Amino acid sequence: MDLFEYADELDYGELHLKVDEETDLHAIVAIHNLNRGPAIGGCRFIEYDTTDDALRDAMRLARGMTYKAAISGLDHGGGKAVIVRPPELDDAQREKLFDVYGEFVDSLNGNYITCEDSGTTVGDMNVVKGQTDHVLGYSPDDGSSGDPSPVTAYGVRRGIQAAAKHQWDRDDLEGLHVAIQGVGSVGYYLARELDELGVELTVTDIDEEDVQRCVDEFGAERVAPESIFDVDCDIFAPCALGAILNDDTIPRLKCEVVAGASNNQLAKPHHGAQLMERGILYAPDYAINAGGLINVAQEFEGYDREAAMTKTKEIYDTMLAIFERAERDGRPTHQVADEIAEERFRG
Ligand code: NAD
Repeated sequence: MDLFEYADELDYGELHLKVDEETDLHAIVAIHNLNRGPAIGGCRFIEYDTTDDALRDAMRLARGMTYKAAISGLDHGGGKAVIVRPPELDDAQREKLFDVYGEFVDSLNGNYITCEDSGTTVGDMNVVKGQTDHVLGYSPDDGSSGDPSPVTAYGVRRGIQAAAKHQWDRDDLEGLHVAIQGVGSVGYYLARELDELGVELTVTDIDEEDVQRCVDEFGAERVAPESIFDVDCDIFAPCALGAILNDDTIPRLKCEVVAGASNNQLAKPHHGAQLMERGILYAPDYAINAGGLINVAQEFEGYDREAAMTKTKEIYDTMLAIFERAERDGRPTHQVADEIAEERFRG
């Protein structure tokens, strides 16, 4: 990969690298844009085949965070860290590695604020906290924000309500049928929110216990994972994997709305247009699933879950604004969301 070419393509920004021989730390911090404020984004700690893969991941994800923060009206830019996970690592080595990572984050003077992501834990963030104040999502006992999933689910519920308003001019969800793919953390809390509002649920998961919990608690119907795309429903809510809206699945959908928590739901950008052509209203993923980011960003003001929920409630207005502009301009919702975010972070 030509690094500067790729950076230009993604409209960068800054890249910071740290290598520490003693702990085998190979870390990247990608800061996409700082126009709205310090960049927030998680720290990934997974194995990569090549350094290019790690760089691409950090850069692509940091850019996504800029859009997510801007569409949510947060005074933050987008950043992301990637630590290439060494193949062998015991607990003591892990702690030393996150110590050095904390020093690295501190050296960026608050332009990048780190938090948990795939492969990192609250425990790792506690170690980072020992070296820098520029960390969020460490132990809730120390005034941090804790599990973001219930807040994310609440935001998705607000987005679903906005979709129902736009698509059917409805202020309630009573009697609507929602099919949820993945009832792990966010999907489970979403099912609970929707059940309370009188929604009929169909769920699937590769984990049978997660499915059973929804059957027992909410009377949900169950289907096999591969059949979720064929469920005749009003709303399909992806809460498991990315790239699930693609050439194979879109023709099978029997819903009028897609609105769920998963990141990167569109396999390719043109799949957003394909949904529009089929008359399916798509809730852009990074706008509807921003509750987790809103929750963690709330720590800046002294964490208060009520305040985080109040800000997350606004996802309803964000989604309605996207849907209305998309309808007015006859354009796919994901393009309109990008446009609104860009207007905000490019100023
Ligand atoms: P999770 O791992 O707790 O839940 C995901 C569930 O999907 C698991 O129960 C898993 O068994 C299931 N699953 C995996 N493959 C499946 C398949 N093929 N078919 C059906 N189910 C399958 O994760 P989560 O925290 O609930 O996040 C769900 C999605 O939402 C992810 O894409 C995540 O990136 C996104 N997201 C989460 C948050 C948050 O606050 N947790 C915030 C923003 C976005």
